[in-house]
Amino acid sequence: MNVLVINCGSSSLKFQLINSDSEKCIAKGLCERIGIEGSQISYTPAGGEKETKVTPMPDHTEAIRLVLEALTNPKTGVVKSLEEIDAVGHRIVHGGEKFAESTIIDADVLKAIEECNDLAPLHNPANLIGIHACQKLMPNTPMVAVFDTSFHQTMPEEAYMYGLPYEYYKKYKIRRYGFHGTSHAYVSKRAAEILGVPYESLKIIVCHLGNGASISAVKNGKCVDTSMGLTPLEGLIMGTRSGDIDPAILEFIAKKEQMDLPTLMNVLNKKSGVLGLSDGLSSDFRDIEAGYDKGDENAIRAMNTYCYHVAKYVGSYAAAMNGVDVIAFTAGVGENGPLVRRLVCEHFGFLGVKLDPELNAKRGVDLVISTPDSKVKVMMIPTNEELAIARETVRLVK
Ligand code: AMP
Repeated sequence: MNVLVINCGSSSLKFQLINSDSEKCIAKGLCERIGIEGSQISYTPAGGEKETKVTPMPDHTEAIRLVLEALTNPKTGVVKSLEEIDAVGHRIVHGGEKFAESTIIDADVLKAIEECNDLAPLHNPANLIGIHACQKLMPNTPMVAVFDTSFHQTMPEEAYMYGLPYEYYKKYKIRRYGFHGTSHAYVSKRAAEILGVPYESLKIIVCHLGNGASISAVKNGKCVDTSMGLTPLEGLIMGTRSGDIDPAILEFIAKKEQMDLPTLMNVLNKKSGVLGLSDGLSSDFRDIEAGYDKGDENAIRAMNTYCYHVAKYVGSYAAAMNGVDVIAFTAGVGENGPLVRRLVCEHFGFLGVKLDPELNAKRGVDLVISTPDSKVKVMMIPTNEELAIARETVRLVK
């Protein structure tokens, strides 16, 4: 089967066409600045050249039309007609408590996703627009919704409740949901597969360290805790997001800097994290690592604080699961950051964690990077959210 995977943002749309038999990506690309002047589509067929075309895209329907045109282009396309696209898998950010699993999209599902809009006002409406645009152009193709939150729905109450008045949970469903679920599910399953051990027998901590970052504790094949909360702002220090802070800091800064709530939230989402901690040096770990190596104090502060917070979560999840068999690093920083992995793992000598420095120097491959006598296996596993979405789509459509 050929599955078109769509990840639709408010002004962008990422796509991949994946053949589910070979599990290979046949073509991929990105539409940017949808609805804004200067929109463009980039398209790369597997083994071919990347093409970029600047062209008007007033809305997502036009963006999807251009994607389908690129995929079926007689010269550079990868399929002869839309008939060869068997299903579409849509990444949906928030499924609330309604979706503990991926699902075939029908009118009821669309309504239920819309009801989660309040929980992810920047993401879910854009995801819905992507679905409607695809339905318009491919009315007979089955579509599946794969949620960032589903994998975390197995968390027990004590992990997902906040210490707030219970009425807010009852009225508004304010609780921890967690995100990056597709990645946490993919990487934890892949860890078991690589080790040749049943998934249901392992205690795994997945560190998804990208521009957004989250950690999850996966015990016996089920997520039991994760660091992101009602929104992706909670948890680890991220590229530009603050992660956990004392909530009273908001009032303090609001008074001192005379800021309103939207401005404060913008500071927490866009100007904090590694970017803020490094006093504006960068949100990108390549710059932070380079600065750290040169002895730049801003880079050192950002790196050390970031890694310390990752280690605190890893430690608390080892306690939550009463042990840990595997610590798996993934996403941009997790797959490419030997320094981050080392600084985090240095905290776990007491658990018998031993990194192999030569293996840890490698990047972007599936690999056990701990020594054979390490009591906990440390792994680097490149995530593949698109493949995970394609697999879910095939499972439901077949
Ligand atoms: P992601 O959100 O998973 O795409 O991760 C993006 C982040 O990964 C970037 O902001 C960088 O901080 C980090 N990253 C990507 N490549 C490298 C690299 N070669 N070395 C260190 N960090 C990297």
